[in-house]
Amino acid sequence: MIRFIAALITICSLFTAFCGRSFAISEEKFFSYKRFFLNQDIAGSFPDDGKVQKDLNKFAATFMRGLSEGSADQPGKARKSFLQARKIWPEYFCTDFVIALTYEDEEKYSIAAQYYKSYLDKLKAFYNGKYRMFGALIVSFTSGKIDSYDSSFALIKTHLARFGIDIGKVKAPFTIPEFLMPFIFIFFLVVIYITYRSWLAPTIRNRRRIKNPPEGFWVCPKCITINPTLSIECAHCGRKRK
Ligand SMILES: [Zn+2]
Repeated sequence: MIRFIAALITICSLFTAFCGRSFAISEEKFFSYKRFFLNQDIAGSFPDDGKVQKDLNKFAATFMRGLSEGSADQPGKARKSFLQARKIWPEYFCTDFVIALTYEDEEKYSIAAQYYKSYLDKLKAFYNGKYRMFGALIVSFTSGKIDSYDSSFALIKTHLARFGIDIGKVKAPFTIPEFLMPFIFIFFLVVIYITYRSWLAPTIRNRRRIKNPPEGFWVCPKCITINPTLSIECAHCGRKRK
């Protein structure tokens, strides 16, 4: 009986060690630039004769440049390329993952976590069929298999927990869609104009009035009523003249 239990314990511990090891290897592979190299038969091979084709070629070139910079231990340079690629094709979720890697290379784990979260959100949207137009293109661009959502989530969760980060509490970085920028600009101009008309301009006008009252009068600083110099308090609000 004791021998049986001992054997059982040995088997269990071997199994755990095996699992631990295979997990460690897959984690190392999972969090690397290498697995994101694009499918060279498709990516960057479109004839340059349309806006979309040109954009996709530019995306492929920029993304691949980022990968080689990231692999060559230049996270800052790589991130610049990836952010550019992300602007061209925001739905390609792998870009968010490799941006996270560049932050991790610089030990900026909380920003890295935001980009991992963005990657997970987009991956979920992809599986939910939200990228109808580009879903097939994403698959053809990717040289390996598309990550499964559940295993990616589990790996990222364990990985971030090591740095004391709970992926459940992380929010994806906020980016303003480019087409909204002119509207936001106009909105700010309107806000500035309204502030000027309703607050700044009257304040300046009143101050001027208080400082320069008509001959023989004083202006109440509280209600801007003009009072004769002889009166000690404001006729309108009763405030005492100083
Ligand atoms: Zn007054």
